[in-house]
Formats: sequence, C-alpha cells, structure tokens
Amino acid sequence: MKTFEELGVAANIRKAIEEMGYENPMPVQEEVIPYLLGETNDVIALAQTGTGKTAAFGLPLLQKTNTKENVPQALILCPTRELCLQIASDLADYSKYIENLRVLPVYGGSSIESQIKSLKRGVQIIVATPGRLIDLINRKTVDLANVKNVVLDEADEMLNMGFLDSIDEILARVPEDRLMLLFSATMPKEVAKITKKYMNSPKEITIGRKNEGSNNVKHVYYMVHAKDKYLALKRIADYYPSIYGIIFCRTRRETQEIADKLIQDGYNADALHGDLSQAQRDYVMQKFRIHNIQLLVATDVAARGLDVDSLTHVINYGLPDDIESYTHRSGRTGRAGKTGTSIAIVHVKEKGKIREIEKIINKKFEQGTIPSGEAICEKQLFSLVDRIEKVKVNEDEISNLLPSVYRKLDWLEKEDIIKRVVALEFNRLIDYYRDAQEIESPSDRSSSRDDKSYPRRKDRDRNDRSSGGRTAERGYSRLFINVGRTDNVNPATLMGLVNDFVPEKVNIGRIDIMQNFSFFEVPEKDAQKVIKSMSRQEQNGRRLSVEVAQGGGGSDRSGGDRNNRERGGFRDRGAKRGGSDFKSSKPSDKGGHRKGRKPKFS
Ligand code: AMP
Repeated sequence: MKTFEELGVAANIRKAIEEMGYENPMPVQEEVIPYLLGETNDVIALAQTGTGKTAAFGLPLLQKTNTKENVPQALILCPTRELCLQIASDLADYSKYIENLRVLPVYGGSSIESQIKSLKRGVQIIVATPGRLIDLINRKTVDLANVKNVVLDEADEMLNMGFLDSIDEILARVPEDRLMLLFSATMPKEVAKITKKYMNSPKEITIGRKNEGSNNVKHVYYMVHAKDKYLALKRIADYYPSIYGIIFCRTRRETQEIADKLIQDGYNADALHGDLSQAQRDYVMQKFRIHNIQLLVATDVAARGLDVDSLTHVINYGLPDDIESYTHRSGRTGRAGKTGTSIAIVHVKEKGKIREIEKIINKKFEQGTIPSGEAICEKQLFSLVDRIEKVKVNEDEISNLLPSVYRKLDWLEKEDIIKRVVALEFNRLIDYYRDAQEIESPSDRSSSRDDKSYPRRKDRDRNDRSSGGRTAERGYSRLFINVGRTDNVNPATLMGLVNDFVPEKVNIGRIDIMQNFSFFEVPEKDAQKVIKSMSRQEQNGRRLSVEVAQGGGGSDRSGGDRNNRERGGFRDRGAKRGGSDFKSSKPSDKGGHRKGRKPKFS
C-alpha cells in the first residue's frame, strides 16, 4: 500500500488530512489520486459512498487549483443539498492549510442572493446541485469558462432525480477540453450513456465489482406474511439491542406510520421523509447522527443525503422497486472498514426479487429465522449485563451519594440486587414476549408460483404512463405528470400547478391522481403549451415532467415527444421510490464538520 506522499499529495494537504485521522489512502484514493494528478484522461470510478471518494477527487482538485486566479476552475455536481454541503465541508477541511482557496457550495433551498455575493467575491471550486447552478447560470452570475475539471458525483442518483437535461445544459457552458471524472455506485445503462456522450477515452476504475455491494455487508432476508411485517421488524430490533440503523420504507405515509408505531411501542425511533419541513428533517438527522435516535425510519429520497458511517443495520421494510435502490440502501452500512447487515423483511411474493438482487450484487442472501421471544430476551439480558460491566463510573460525582444508596439497599443480597436491576430494564420485553405467538414463516413452496420479479425498466415506465387504458375526451389531450398522491397532489393542487406555470388560462378536464403520478386533460390546442410551460419547472425542489400520456389520446405523438418519454423513463423513478422528492428540498448538511471545525465556505 502506498502512502499519500507516494501518491503525490502535497505536504500542506497531507498535514490537514493527517489531522483528520487519514493515515493511509483508501483503495479508491490509491487508484484515482495519482491518475488525476498526473494523467490527462477522463476517469469513470465505480465506487459506493463511504469508500473515500470525496478525498479521491477532492485532494487532486485542490492541489491543481491555482489560488492566484480567482475564477471557478473546478466544478463538482452532485444530486442533493446535503451531499453538496458535505463535499464542500470536506474540501474546506482538506484545504485548511492552503491560503486563499475558496470553495462554494451552491444548492437549492437557501438564499440565492448570498450565493451570488460569494460568487462575485470569487471562488475557485464550485460544488453544486444542478438545479441551482442552472438558476445562477441563467442569472449570468456564474462563469464556467475557466473550468478545467468537472466531477459528476453520484451520477446514478443525479439521473434518478431527473437531472440529465440540467447536466447537458451545464456542460455546454464548460470548455470542451475540461477533464471529467464520474463517480457512480452503479452503472445502469443511463450512466453508461452519459459516459459515452461526455467523456473522452475514459479510464475505468472499479472499486469492488460493478454494482456489487460492499464486502463488509452481510445480506439477510426474513420471509414473513405481509400481516407480520411490523412484528418481525420489532423482533429484529429487539434482537439487536445495540442496533443503529435506517429502516427504509417505500412511501412517506408508511414511513410515518412505522415510526409512530415504533415510538408508541417504546423504541428510540423517528421518521425522516419529505412531508416534514426542512427544519424538522435537519433536527431528526442531527439527532440520528449523535445517536440520540437508534432507528431512523426513512424514505430513500429523504435519507439520501444523510451521511453516517457507523450504521450497524439497514432494514428494508419491503424491497424497493428497483435493484439499484437496494444497492444504495445496503451500501449505507459496512462503511469505512466496519461491518454491517442489510436486512430485508419480505413476503413470499418478493422471493424472486431476492434472487435478482443476488445476481446483481453477486452475493447470496442468508435466509434468517425470526428470533423467538426467548432468544430475544436472552440476547437483551446479555447486552444489559455487558453494559453493566462496561459502564463508565464517574466516581467523583456519585461518591457522595453512594453511602445512602448502600444503606437503602443494605437488606438485599447481591443476587437480589442484580435481579432487580435486570427486571427494571427488562420487564417490558418479558411482558411482551411472555404470551407472544411466534411469527410463522410462510412456506417457501408457494414462492415460485407467486414469484414477482422486477418488471423490466421499460415495462415499468410503460405501465406508469399508459393512462390506465383511458382515452382523452374528444378535443382534449391526456397528459401525464410525474407527481401523485405520494407527493400530496390532489385535483386542486394539480390545477394550482397548471395555473402557476402556464401563462394563459387553460381549461382543465378530467383529472386522475394516481399514487406516484397523475393524468389530466387539457384542450388539444393547449397541450403543447402546457407541456412546454410546465416541464422542467421546479416545485419544492422537484423537477416536473409533463408529457402526452401513452395511449391516452392527444394531439402530439411526434418524435420529440418520444424522446421526451425515453428520457423520462428514469427521471420518473425518483417519484416511485419513496416518492418524497416533491416537497423536499433536501435536508440539511450532515453537520459534517469533523472535530467541530467550521467549514471554510467563502
Ligand atoms: P466518502 O466516501 O468520501 O464519503 O468517505 C467516507 C468516510 O471515510 C468519510 O467519513 C471520510 O472522512 C473517511 N475517509 C476518507 N478517506 C479516508 C482515509 N484515507 N482514511 C480514513 N478515513 C477516510
């Protein structure tokens, strides 16, 4: 293994990262750093989050920055506000000993004016979410003409979130001879397309196998009847007393319900999803980071920016719609050299999905047996005993109180005292499990009959947009829009959206609100105007996509529309998974200032 010095990292940067506790380069750094420092090729790096990729691209970018020139020289695009803040904060930490180096995070959901002011003062590295950067470009407040390095971080997520067009628009402003580095945890076709379109004979670096989960993660599934899913979740949580994990749910409503139930049942849990205000999400994430919450129940989207390295478990409360999401979820544990477990609580119909995931991550799931009440009580007991053994006793502070405590308990034998201490902690569990029925695991045999595999991407999209076989009223076009019930859209809000974004008044006919998307009908003559005015508008941080519904009747089936639809194919997925984008501008920064240092944002 090489040292940072051998990789060519300059002394002033080494000093900063040593202070942060980085002793040796992580594998992705070993691969990427010398390449970015020395060569002139583009680089594709397939690496999960948590592998040390920020330093892999960050250290060379900082080192290559000319601090005498006060213009943007490097641009890092990333999908979410908190990743943006995280990267900027990391770069600020790494550049602690570089004079006059300015990094600016640029993201939606915060004052654009202050970002403009900072840009005017001059920055050399911009870390941006695509939507806000486009705003700034349109206001002519940012000039990318001197950018020499572009990093696309979490490219697969950016595409999932519908940022392809924005990326196109941004890259058109950057000189063609820029170097480009693309990081992605997975390599779906859409990302491969981007690499072809924008990258110049890229060198491909894979940390682990493509799409493969981290080696530190064990994958376990528990098969239960749908009605027993929550009970199984509780047992799993009880069986791992020191669990520190995220429970992923598919919708905001399910997320809130499960969190509410867990809280009611005495667990140290809370919910994180897009129906919460920014301040509430920040608060929950902060509590989770400092371990005040043990179980965070979250949607994929809301949890995306939460960067926590020490998760012991990720729990899939049901499997996500697409395999990439599973890779992302499970990649949140087993980070930074630690081990972790990714648990899927599935019902029999999801068995097929398990097999598909196994193929992609190239790992076998273990089939877990839901722990019995007895096993749980035993496990909890030993955890308690362990805590008693290891608790730090602050002699000075309790020594004054202890004599009266001894006096009070004098009549009890040591064994009695132990029994009582254990009972104090333990009665809830014992009461609960004393009469609890064991959870029955459905027979595996039915699974092959019921196997429900992932629909292929194309089929999924077709289903979504096929307008349920309904055709438009005569003279009307039936339009698809990528927001639905999960996004709190109802007929009134949908009409409000049309009114907000379409300059002239438009009659709106039939409206059908579905779970993750909706259909509405407008006069044929207005269809293109509505599509044009609404598409790519941003609403609460969510980019709208509107198009003629397939098979839904309507005026335009032109090639333009077809292209749109193809692009929409993956844009829409963000809405389906967890579906909490609509309201959420992303929650705040992970606090991310290691060792209490403030980030050095300009
Ligand atoms: P990232 O994938 O960039 O989010 O990094 C994951 C975690 O690893 C972060 O907490 C980094 O601070 C940490 N990290 C990155 N590089 C190193 C290193 N060389 N040694 C120790 N920790 C590191």
